Amino acid sequence: QKWVYTFGGGSAEGSAAGRDLLGGKGANLAEMCNLGLPVPPGLTIVTDACAHYYANSRTIPDSLKNEVRAGLRRMEEVTGRTFGHNERPLLLSVRSGARASMPGMMDTVLNLGLTDETVQALGHDAGDARFAWDSYRRFIQMYGDVVMGLDHEVFEEILEDEKARFGHEQDTELSAMEWQHVIARYKEAIAEELGESFPQDPEVQLWGAIGAVFSSWMNARAVTYRTLHNIPAEWGTAVNVQAMVFGNLGNSSATGVAFTRNPSTGDNALYGEFLVNAQGEDVVAGIRTPQNITEGARIASGSDRPSLEKLMPEAFAEFTDICTRLERHYRDMQDLEFTIERGKLWMLQTRSGKRTAKAALKMAVDMAEEGLISKEQAVARIDPASLDQLLHPTIDPRARREVIGAGLPASPGAATGEIVFTSEEAVHAQEEGRKVILVRVETSPEDIHGMHAAEGILTTRGGMTSHAAVVARGMGIPCVSGAGTLRVDLRNELLIAQGATLKKGDVITIDGGSGQVLKGAIPMLQPELSGDFGRIMEWADATRRMKVRTNAETPADARAARSFGAEGIGLCRTEHMFFEDGRINVMREMILAGDETGRRTALAKLLPMQRSDFVELFEIMHGLPVTIRLLDPPLHEFLPKTDEEIAEVAASLAFDPAELRQRVDALHEFNPMLGHRGCRLAISYPEIAEMQARAIFEAACQAARDTGAAVVPEIMVPLVGLKSELDYVKARIDAVAKEVIAEAGVEIEYLVGTMIELPRAALRAHVIAESAEFFSFGTNDLTQTTFGISRDDASQFLTTYLQKGIVERDPFVQLDFDGVGELIQIAAERGRRTRGDLKLGICGEHGGDPASIHFCEEAGLDYVSCSPFRVPIARLAAAQAAF
Ligand code: PEP
Ligand code: MG
Repeated sequence: QKWVYTFGGGSAEGSAAGRDLLGGKGANLAEMCNLGLPVPPGLTIVTDACAHYYANSRTIPDSLKNEVRAGLRRMEEVTGRTFGHNERPLLLSVRSGARASMPGMMDTVLNLGLTDETVQALGHDAGDARFAWDSYRRFIQMYGDVVMGLDHEVFEEILEDEKARFGHEQDTELSAMEWQHVIARYKEAIAEELGESFPQDPEVQLWGAIGAVFSSWMNARAVTYRTLHNIPAEWGTAVNVQAMVFGNLGNSSATGVAFTRNPSTGDNALYGEFLVNAQGEDVVAGIRTPQNITEGARIASGSDRPSLEKLMPEAFAEFTDICTRLERHYRDMQDLEFTIERGKLWMLQTRSGKRTAKAALKMAVDMAEEGLISKEQAVARIDPASLDQLLHPTIDPRARREVIGAGLPASPGAATGEIVFTSEEAVHAQEEGRKVILVRVETSPEDIHGMHAAEGILTTRGGMTSHAAVVARGMGIPCVSGAGTLRVDLRNELLIAQGATLKKGDVITIDGGSGQVLKGAIPMLQPELSGDFGRIMEWADATRRMKVRTNAETPADARAARSFGAEGIGLCRTEHMFFEDGRINVMREMILAGDETGRRTALAKLLPMQRSDFVELFEIMHGLPVTIRLLDPPLHEFLPKTDEEIAEVAASLAFDPAELRQRVDALHEFNPMLGHRGCRLAISYPEIAEMQARAIFEAACQAARDTGAAVVPEIMVPLVGLKSELDYVKARIDAVAKEVIAEAGVEIEYLVGTMIELPRAALRAHVIAESAEFFSFGTNDLTQTTFGISRDDASQFLTTYLQKGIVERDPFVQLDFDGVGELIQIAAERGRRTRGDLKLGICGEHGGDPASIHFCEEAGLDYVSCSPFRVPIARLAAAQAAF
């Protein structure tokens, strides 16, 4: 077992390919060394060591300790410094680095190796005592918090107290002497609160920090993050121990973060922020507001503080050069961390940068056009689920805006909600179904729960790369950061703006696109899909095999779905059409009629309404396939329930209330989902199916005449388990077709098929396919009937199942590939054995779920059908599934 991989001095033992073992950060540090870039030397302890640590009651094996010592010797050779030595001390950073990036979730210790003695040497060596003491106090603060477990508030309090005592406002104003006072108090606080003193042996410090990084893999926020992002706990984190370089060595030093393209818009322009005379965590923590890296960004932001380009032109030139190289090398936008120590540039990290959905589209399209990646790679790079972000509402430009403040447009989209000031309140409000905006001075990784629960995030401090901004973009939540004109008064729970004071619970709107903060709720607009979106969709459409249809019954939904690229309707649930005003009573008349004649009288009134609905759908779909399902739900769903409702309906239908109550009771079922519904209705009351068939055929004739496009309706019979059920209903449909053809004098083409929603139907598919011309998998019901889990009652115990790991995913959201999936495969295979050209589709909710769509591709389905807003997601997922 090799525990340690070294890097630095122009070469590395690992490379980017070793990501699983070295973690993302370690693998990329090695890769940058191999590319000859300036990287401070270091070593990576592999992820396996983390697993070993947990498997052996949190201990570190001797063999690992020896390898780390050997690695340190190598770092000493490269740097010409010695760890724990009093001449030229080698100082270290110790950082986590998992396989998947988990920004800010785990612990970091900087400036490790400083003691009461080495701090003097560092000051001597650097010729700057103030710097040395500042570094030492930072180290004690971080180590005291992260490794020893003393709350960082304790240190903050001491620091504030000492600053006030010496009459300073900024940390940067403290002198070496003053820092020594702070440090003395820090050490006292540690001894007092923890009963142990701050370690003066650098080796002890090192093992303490390594253990702390391993332990942080299991801290609450890391666990939450992993759950949210499906990262397995077994992966573990690597630990990177690296020679420190200092961005806080005076005004020719700096530290910063950059993206090779703009992570918010996708523009192909270097985007980043830096601070002069600072260490890395200062930028991310948002304690000082950083400066722009490029002159262009500085001008655009209207800042009067100089850019890095102006301030340190040589380091800037080298840095931009490295940015270009790394982007070409990885063929993707990179997120970089760097430090400039007295004019010399050092690279501390590179990784594929997180980006908004909009930026992801733009970058993929641009990179394909630049020839950096292929069109297929561009399509493969977009996470289908992220397209949801593009469907975020934006503020209606015509709306009246009462702007109370402004910050940076950190994450796009607009959001409205009540003000809350803590993450706990945000979580609590979400549980109560209230929408909130989380308002904070700044956020930290502890806020991850609250950020997830909020509609939007507003901070008064911090830049585009602050924690709030990065995390919000990743989550697709609108965010405005660094709104400096606003002030949070936590004690009194107030948000104070110029000219307005808002309380907790007051409603505000934030616009993550412009950075504005507005009073009250503002009218929103649905988003427009950009040109890049169109390009990616075009490329996706060129690669996919499966068609994408939509589930729609209203003209508005059908039109929306067409604009999103739906290629027909895969499911029109006709019952929804009966719930409209003026119709529901006719429907009730039909249900309450004493005999067939009475029912036919009511149905005759429904016929023209249904027909006009279908004409409209056919016209919108203009020759594309339209699948119409016969009435499916149990009839009592149309009847009133409470006494008041019964009284009201009885009055409007001139029915005796007592008798109506009796009829309602008679239709009661113990398991309505397994009761008198689906094709069972059509068998009991064939006149309903006949009316619907007639409406469909007459509408098809009319639409064909009106539009000139041939209409081939597909009539779908729900909840079939037996071939004889389908045959009975199909015979009625065929008879009506004959009549309408005779009346209209035109030939009508149509298909009759069935839904596969019952395990028996799947198993007997070869027999059912003798009558059915198509199958559509109704995976909502098929999941319900396969598992024997009521889809309407599942949420209570499925949540427990998910929490206890009994199921990994909600089977009503993502297909259960093993069980329900096998039934689908069986039905597809057996059905096609009987009828080679049997058309296969899916119309359950799973038709819009990317992972389920992959399964459908493998099962050889012809199309998926989903709700209108998921059509773009399905088009993209279908393309990716086809690769
Ligand atoms: C299904 O069961 O998957 C389906 C599409 O029908 P419904 O959801 O209307 O029962
Ligand atoms: Mg169903």
